[in-house]
Parts: sequence; structure tokens; C-alpha cells
Amino acid sequence: MTDKIAIYPGSFDPITFGHLDIIKRANALFDKLIVAVAYDNVKNSLFSAEERIKLIQQEITAHHLEKTVFTSSFSGLLVDFAEQNKAIAIVRGLRAVSDFEYEFQMFGMNSTLNANIQTIFLPASKQHHFTASRFVKEVARLGGKTSDFVSKNVALELQKKYAT
Ligand code: ADP
Repeated sequence: MTDKIAIYPGSFDPITFGHLDIIKRANALFDKLIVAVAYDNVKNSLFSAEERIKLIQQEITAHHLEKTVFTSSFSGLLVDFAEQNKAIAIVRGLRAVSDFEYEFQMFGMNSTLNANIQTIFLPASKQHHFTASRFVKEVARLGGKTSDFVSKNVALELQKKYAT
């Protein structure tokens, strides 16, 4: 039987406990999960794509997921990237209702572009409902504690970014 491969795309700027929770849960559903960092030159990210991948990779190793979870970056159409990687599904996390509209539209576009690739929505776990990279960055920028939302490693890298 062929491996069931899924893509978990996003900005991951930086990776949070919410992302990690989705990674672990998607990992239990598929044979192989590719966490794909969007190489987006338009969106102003704090960490470069290389830095974001490195931080994800460190979490994967720390949680012993390296046998089945991989990292990559992509630019261009997500469904093309998914097809190139022989993925059968795109995984997305859903926090509040506010995520739903955007995610549903993205599903609509992607499923029209390539009907063979399914979108799987995983609801955020209770404890991660309010965790978002955007707010974590804001807390770090203002000198607040981020350790409830990101790993020690990521918290340190955030501190370094805002110290300069
Ligand atoms: P985007 O840049 O598209 O907002 P992110 O990089 O922030 O994407 O997140 C990638 C995916 O992870 C999205 O599907 C997003 O909804 C999901 N996600 C982000 N934070 C959480 C969280 N705390 N719990 C569950 N899913 C999350």
C-alpha cells in the first residue's frame, strides 16, 4: 500500500504549541506529514523561511517525530506542491469561528484547483484556542512572557529578535 501523505502548510512565524498540537494529531492520522513553510515575500515575517524551518525541525526532534514528520518550504500554489509530494490531504487547524471563513474559502479554491486533494480541518485543542503566532510576537516585542505559548527554544529566539 502507498503511504498516506499530508501537508500541513502555514507561516509558522514562529511555531507555537498550537501548531505542535496539530502536527502531533495529524501525525497520528497519516503515514507521513510534511510541515510546509510558505515562502512568502509579500507578507512581512519576523523569521526568515530558513529560520522558521529550523525552529520547526528542532520541535520535531525534541518530540521524537522525525521518523514521520518532515519540513519543507513552498512558494506558488499549495495544491501543486501537494501533488508534487504525492500528498492526499492538506491539514489546517481551526481556532475560533473567525478562522472558519478564510479557511473555508481556501478549501473552496484548492478543491476547485485539484479535486483529488482533500482538506482536513482539525479543531484547536481547548488549551491552544487563543494561541496565535501574531499575538505571541506582540507579547515578545513588549517584553512579556511567551513560555505558555511556545517552547523555551522559540521563546529565546523571539527574545533575541526583539533585543536587536
Ligand atoms: P496563517 O499564516 O495562514 O495564519 P499559521 O502559520 O498561523 O497560518 O498557521 C498554520 C495553520 O495552523 C493554520 O491552519 C492555522 O489555523 C493553524 N493554527 C495556528 N495556530 C493554531 C492553534 N493555536 N491551534 C490550532 N491551529 C492553529
